Amino acid sequence: MNEPVHLLSMEFNGEVRIGLTDEAQLYVIDLLKAHEVKGEIDIWPSTLLEGIEKGEDFVRTVARLRDWVFTQRNSKDYFIPMKEVKLLAPVQRPRKNIFCVGKNYREHVLEMGSAEDIPEHIMIFTKAPTTVIGHEEIIPIHEGVTNQLDYEGELAIVIGKVGKCIALDDAMDYIFGYTIVNDVTARDLQKRHKQFFLGKSLDGTCPMGPVIVHKSAIDDPQNLKVKTLVNGEVRQFATTELMIFSIPEIISTISKGMTLEPGDIIATGTPAGVGKGFDPPRFLTEGDVVEVSIEKIGTLRNTIN
Ligand code: MG
Repeated sequence: MNEPVHLLSMEFNGEVRIGLTDEAQLYVIDLLKAHEVKGEIDIWPSTLLEGIEKGEDFVRTVARLRDWVFTQRNSKDYFIPMKEVKLLAPVQRPRKNIFCVGKNYREHVLEMGSAEDIPEHIMIFTKAPTTVIGHEEIIPIHEGVTNQLDYEGELAIVIGKVGKCIALDDAMDYIFGYTIVNDVTARDLQKRHKQFFLGKSLDGTCPMGPVIVHKSAIDDPQNLKVKTLVNGEVRQFATTELMIFSIPEIISTISKGMTLEPGDIIATGTPAGVGKGFDPPRFLTEGDVVEVSIEKIGTLRNTIN
């Protein structure tokens, strides 16, 4: 393992725990066990969200525990094979709705409409906290509610400290790290109800994870490849440099008059290639496997059922 930056939430031995992995994501360090055996006196957070709320102190503690584990003669005892844990969404239950940027990639705006729809100002909608599920969890098909379920692979920002009216130049300081979100959307509800909220907030329509990568591991979040596969077929493939509104612009704009808090999640918009963009549209059906991969973060995989 290199830098202590790939954090995750997992279920292990019937408990929710914080794990630490690396880019290969083959093993997880059981940080709770390390914390207990090492005899640290500070209170260990019970969820990754609580850890994020502790800010950079938490990251330093994680680094210290990781380094300690490697000095132990029985260091192997702290490593759990990834396949033996059940991954949970890194933030299982955000304290507020997930912020989402709409229409933030030009080619996606064009596939959904026309050049007239390219926004002059950032467009923000939200998804209910109950939408969140983890890697490998099932996205419900919601039969009888929608028959136009669609995928949107997106880079998501995890906020790391409280901020309001954040200046553009300071915006990156407010980031804890990055994760992947699939902004699953019921296109029929999105259209019928005008406001996006219902079409974006069905249970299980915000797969998130598999990890949160601390910002120290991503030099340029505006230069990451984003790829979405459905049943192994590439549907979306773009880089985050194509965003119309940059990450600092997004943070600065949302925070104008509204307080951002640690653990807030902001999905930064989806590139071209969503199911609705095809002619005829290619919506998700039972058994479809959607994989969203983002460079330096990993792959978020979910099945529709
Ligand atoms: Mg979206």
